[in-house]
Amino acid sequence: MIKYLPLKEITASYEPDITDALKQIVERGWFLLGEECAAFEKEYAEYIGSRHCIGCGNGYDALWLILRAYRAMGTLKEGDEVLVPANTFIASVLAITNNGLKPVFVEPDADTFIVSEEQLRKATTTRSKAYLMVHLYGRCAYSDAIGNFCRERGIKIIEDNAQAHGAIYGERRTGSLGDAAGHSFYPGKNLGALGDAGAVTTDDDKLAETIAMLHNYGSTKKYIHEQEGVNSRIDEFQAAILRIKLRRLDKDNKRREQIAGKYMSEIKNPLLRMPKAAEPGANVYHIFPLMCKQRDKLQKYLSEHGIETQIHYPIAVHKQSCYPQWHTLSLPTAETLCSQELSLPLYPLLTDEEVEVIIATVNAYQIDFNLSI
Ligand SMILES: *Cc1c(COP(=O)(O)O)cnc(C)c1O
Repeated sequence: MIKYLPLKEITASYEPDITDALKQIVERGWFLLGEECAAFEKEYAEYIGSRHCIGCGNGYDALWLILRAYRAMGTLKEGDEVLVPANTFIASVLAITNNGLKPVFVEPDADTFIVSEEQLRKATTTRSKAYLMVHLYGRCAYSDAIGNFCRERGIKIIEDNAQAHGAIYGERRTGSLGDAAGHSFYPGKNLGALGDAGAVTTDDDKLAETIAMLHNYGSTKKYIHEQEGVNSRIDEFQAAILRIKLRRLDKDNKRREQIAGKYMSEIKNPLLRMPKAAEPGANVYHIFPLMCKQRDKLQKYLSEHGIETQIHYPIAVHKQSCYPQWHTLSLPTAETLCSQELSLPLYPLLTDEEVEVIIATVNAYQIDFNLSI
């Protein structure tokens, strides 16, 4: 069986470094906001190319903290509109609604699966105050045209960089392209912890200061609370693991790009659609999505042939039970993606032989005449 993501084997490939680092922390006896956290924040800020990095509990918290800080600073007010792709993981949208802000769903481009400048313009109103840009599947969603448009309109760009650690636009990395970025280090992400972890990066001193306060109970000095904050910190174990894994990230992303390149050039099946190729480095292929009208049949077929796959994401955010107010919205491109998307295994440890097997098996998939296509 080729697994979708063999986390056990991936983790083992970093040994004995991980175990050694964890042991050192146990011996040191300092578990939160210590030297590993400070070192990771410094190294990750340098890697991304941002002035500040603040570690926090997870990717959702990172996005929530950015918007919460903008509210505390008066940059955003209750009810302000935040543009967000209609096809994203629900965390992007929850960060908006859990801050008393209003999401405005933007349809993605049908070929790249990310939002284009044209679609962003169409969805923008005079009440749009921020754009939560999602680098979905690992593909950079920023362009100079989008950056200029948002700056002209006074729209803050908040990057959801949960899936695109290391992706490059021109000379800069995602996470340093907008006003602030939220990063998730959920175990399966390109840079993944062994538990929950996240971070905010930004060049904005005031925003960084506010988030540094908010994520630690609204406090900069122990037992002095200036803001109504929360507890969202990265622990020393996760910070140490991330420091070890960060050293291999670029190499891992190169291997992901190589595998994706093979998929794109060698998968030839008229029943499938693949994403349009991106500029070199602009996609770190967190997820490799295929589009197939017979998606569920294809998934079953691949599973029967020893290939595990996943669906990202089966139900659009605006169709979820927690958001009944948007069930009448029609966002056909996002909804089609939900009904057709199937993600192939793609991780650096995948061998060339396994890649060949996946390609040959996908290419051998044939029409099921019981279904209209
Ligand atoms: C994983 C993910 C998140 C949330 O990250 P957590 O660390 O699980 O909270 C947010 N946005 C996107 C696009 C993600 O893929």
